[in-house]
Amino acid sequence: MREVQFSLLTKLLKNVAQNSPFYRQKFSSLGICPEDIRSESDFEKLPFTTKEELRDAYPLGLQAVPDEKVVRIHSSSGTTGKPVIIPYTAGDVEIWAEMMCRCFKMAGVTPLDRVQITPGYGLWTAGIGFQAGVEKLGAMAVPMGPGNTDKQIQMMIDLKSTVLVATSSYALLLAEEVQKRGILSQIHLKKGIFGSERWGEKMRKRIQDGLGIEVFDIYGLTEIYGPGIALDCHCHSGMHYWDDVLYFEIIDPCTGKRLSDGEYGELVITTLVKEGAPLIRYRTRDLTRIIPGNCSCGSPFPRIDRIVGRTDDMIKIKGVNIYPGQVDELLTEINGISSEYNIIIDHVEGRDRMTLRVEREDRVDCSLVESLIVELFKKRIGIQIRAEAVPIGTLPRSEKKTRRVFDYREV
Ligand code: ZN
Repeated sequence: MREVQFSLLTKLLKNVAQNSPFYRQKFSSLGICPEDIRSESDFEKLPFTTKEELRDAYPLGLQAVPDEKVVRIHSSSGTTGKPVIIPYTAGDVEIWAEMMCRCFKMAGVTPLDRVQITPGYGLWTAGIGFQAGVEKLGAMAVPMGPGNTDKQIQMMIDLKSTVLVATSSYALLLAEEVQKRGILSQIHLKKGIFGSERWGEKMRKRIQDGLGIEVFDIYGLTEIYGPGIALDCHCHSGMHYWDDVLYFEIIDPCTGKRLSDGEYGELVITTLVKEGAPLIRYRTRDLTRIIPGNCSCGSPFPRIDRIVGRTDDMIKIKGVNIYPGQVDELLTEINGISSEYNIIIDHVEGRDRMTLRVEREDRVDCSLVESLIVELFKKRIGIQIRAEAVPIGTLPRSEKKTRRVFDYREV
């Protein structure tokens, strides 16, 4: 931890102990005094903050400023249980826009660009976060929101959009549509900024080639401002994150122990300057690593690697832990299949069974691809699976996040 980060942290701890009902209670029940945190190792003894705790604080238990300071709320999608509500001050909104603006600059976006924003607006942080960054940079925002692919493509052509902001699965859908309609020559896109889900090299390449663009990964989560807290640069060797605003740690998701740079584990974030809902050692459930050393782009900001999975989509099958990220990586080695796949797990005759369903191109021999996958899976991940190659375009695409794992085992 750098000295300037530590001094921000000291201020933060004092602030939450006084003003955040959530942390006041958490600290007092555990006997934690902000004054006792005098070093990085003291800090590492502080308890984590979890998503469950944030849910329990519903609706506004996280708010650490008086009502008149709150200008907006956002909320994480409540697909499982209660949503998490995050209040923002004017200062939070400003810092978020600044981070997003840095992201656009890092991707080489200029005030002359036209940025088509396809993620949703509203309670979700995505759309409005990108919008604020585009406006701060001085580029032109085309605030489409999600869906309506025909209209998206029409606007893309007529307004000559040069930058596309999307989830990676929607970008793939658009890329396939552009190919199908044979209209690539009418598209003016140069760059794509995609995020909000883990995706592999193969999918990236299909989007890149399908739309003729350079692709940048963006990272973020509603609990910590929203998207825009990290982005990969032109070197595409990891995502730079804004360490003047956020403090990142990587921990072992099972033991909670801090890991060294370079080791894969769960990303834990502390917000150094957030006002509305500051978070200390928040467990993101995202799996990545801090990349040691400097990036050849020359940026002073440190890097995390691409997100390889979520701690909660880790699948345990036949006693082996599998991350979907490993499957992505394995599939990039096989020619003639798409980036889309489904993992189906069931329990047959007293044993777990895993089926990996992939999409193959017409020219490819079905049984050959299937046996190749089975063999590679056995060699790399160490378990016997079944593979099923279906024609390209069979597996569902989605405008939001694509579900890939279907676990039918009874719990
Ligand atoms: Zn770089």
